[in-house]
Amino acid sequence: MILFKKAKDLSAWLEQQRLKGESIGFVPTMGALHAGHISLIDISKKQAGATVCSIFVNPTQFNDPKDFQKYPITIEQDILLLERAGTDALFLPEADEVYPGGTAGLEKYELGPLENLLEGKYRPGHFQGVCQVMRRLLDLVRPDDLFMGQKDYQQCMVVRRLLEIMGVATVLHPCPIIREPDGLAMSSRNMRLSEEQRKKATAIYRALSAIRDGWRKMQAAGARGVFTEEMEAVLRGATMLLEKNDFRIDYISLADAASLEPVTRADHADVVGLVAAFMGEVRLIDNMVL
Ligand code: AMP
Repeated sequence: MILFKKAKDLSAWLEQQRLKGESIGFVPTMGALHAGHISLIDISKKQAGATVCSIFVNPTQFNDPKDFQKYPITIEQDILLLERAGTDALFLPEADEVYPGGTAGLEKYELGPLENLLEGKYRPGHFQGVCQVMRRLLDLVRPDDLFMGQKDYQQCMVVRRLLEIMGVATVLHPCPIIREPDGLAMSSRNMRLSEEQRKKATAIYRALSAIRDGWRKMQAAGARGVFTEEMEAVLRGATMLLEKNDFRIDYISLADAASLEPVTRADHADVVGLVAAFMGEVRLIDNMVL
């Protein structure tokens, strides 16, 4: 694996790959890598000629400065994992390489309702920051294929919108959520949980699973119109389960899988259940396509 710290060096290497006829697969990350990230590298390696990973903890997407300061950094371990996975190139820039003019007064993107729903509502400015960094990385890497995790369901939608705005042919591949054996979605933030918090954190997966089962049962029964009493009870139960495990809930949402607008009808097709909640200072998100 070749490690690049400078954009111009990565550009020159990418140009060589293209001359050799290799397609470029790209996996952007913020580091503190785990098996979820590595699954994206594996998928890219199967589909693309050359796989580039970036590690950059993007300051502009953190609406909470404490979250940014405490974001885990495990760069040596990350390099080992990426090497082992057969990554071809790692881009590891400093902030001034990504934002040469600084981060004040950056451009804004028109993201429509996505900006004010769910993550957009609870993390103001977050998706603008995601677009600002992705724009720069995409302009630099110009990948044929972009691999991102469905763990960040709404982020995949935002990046799809960004690709449209940019008018580029890059294909976005949303990839499955990788979970711990007890169901907890892998996340760099899980490292910040105490042992006790880590055990309680599985409540998110249990709540989403209960919602999925309740939803399927309701649909199998052919319910139409408003949710059944049973489904309402499942949703209340999910809230209680999280609260009993000391979560502070931002949202538990049943949303349309394509628009993320709230679902209110029992016969709605293509639904995703999404959760965001704090365990202590650590904010966790997860989702399940129902
Ligand atoms: P992050 O480093 O958290 O910005 O994540 C980098 C990429 O890895 C994003 O596309 C995430 O959606 C993806 N990712 C994070 N956790 C997982 C997971 N548990 N399973 C699959 N992909 C993930």
